[in-house]
Amino acid sequence: MAQSTWHHPQSVAQTLKLLNTYAGQCVVVGGATTLALRKDKLPPHIIDLSAANLSFVRVAPASTLIGSMTRMADMSPKALPGVGGAFLAEVAAHVATTPLRNMITLGGNVAQCYAWSEMPLALLAMDATVHLRSLSSRRRIKATKFFSQSSSRIIRDGEIITQIEYPNYEAGQAAFGYEQIRRTVTDYPLLSVAVFLTQDKGIITSSHIVVGSIKTRPVLVTQPSGMMLDKAIDDIDIDLLSAKAAKDLIISSDPRASTGYKQEMVTVLCRRALSTALAGLAK
Ligand SMILES: Cc1cc2nc3c(=O)[nH]c(=O)nc-3n(C[C@H](O)[C@H](O)[C@H](O)COP(=O)(O)OP(=O)(O)OC[C@H]3O[C@@H](n4cnc5c(N)ncnc54)[C@H](O)[C@@H]3O)c2cc1C
Repeated sequence: MAQSTWHHPQSVAQTLKLLNTYAGQCVVVGGATTLALRKDKLPPHIIDLSAANLSFVRVAPASTLIGSMTRMADMSPKALPGVGGAFLAEVAAHVATTPLRNMITLGGNVAQCYAWSEMPLALLAMDATVHLRSLSSRRRIKATKFFSQSSSRIIRDGEIITQIEYPNYEAGQAAFGYEQIRRTVTDYPLLSVAVFLTQDKGIITSSHIVVGSIKTRPVLVTQPSGMMLDKAIDDIDIDLLSAKAAKDLIISSDPRASTGYKQEMVTVLCRRALSTALAGLAK
């Protein structure tokens, strides 16, 4: 059986050159946790990003940049500043199991967005930005656009995700809630709900509710989110919004649970996540 050649580039520039040299005959890997699941034959060249200097956290005045090779296990609230950092750390802590969190990378979780993938929910809820690079271009794509279609349509040949950027908010300016259910601790999530809210002087200035594991990609639930805008925190009717969030969702069939059950559980998880986020704002 023909074996693939593994490459371990030491920088992004070297990675991009290799991608160019082996165009059409290679795949990049982050944590490489999806390699074993590939049904097709492995390509002749595998480009491992582990040594490409893409594991970092850089804090700028308005935003924080996280390298795409940052692993779930490294995404602790200590490592990631602000409310957005705490949100990402909370979601990362739910992903898979400890051994897998030591392997799975932020870039891999984003690039291969399965129905159950969890980091995309937090990135959508915060309106984060995905940075991509190829030999000839640098692109920044908002999460709402990035996750609106299959990543194979967004990420071009010869391009990699280099970093993810999220806005910096201090406690009191923003808050989040994250809820999910799975059948066992090692199962993929059956359902996940992420909520991210911002406020100014007690008035909601932005609100995003994202539901995962109901379709091939996470769903940003626009209508009830919009209903919170410009409202006082104390005036938010959590029960009404949670019921509305679930009402019009189209839920794909899942052999693990009926769509009716999942619909009901969206309301429940949404209520919990919204309550947590609103309580966080009120602190
Ligand atoms: C048993 C099991 C349970 C799991 N449970 C969960 C769970 O509960 N929640 C959850 O969110 N995830 C879960 N996962 C993880 C998820 O399914 C993927 O395996 C994981 O997100 C892939 O990350 P990775 O770093 O290993 O990517 P890789 O396997 O290295 O790559 C995945 C894909 O992304 C591409 N890619 C990787 N990095 C980049 C980059 N920087 N730029 C461009 N393309 C890139 C690769 O070419 C490949 O196509 C689980 C995985 C397993 C095996």
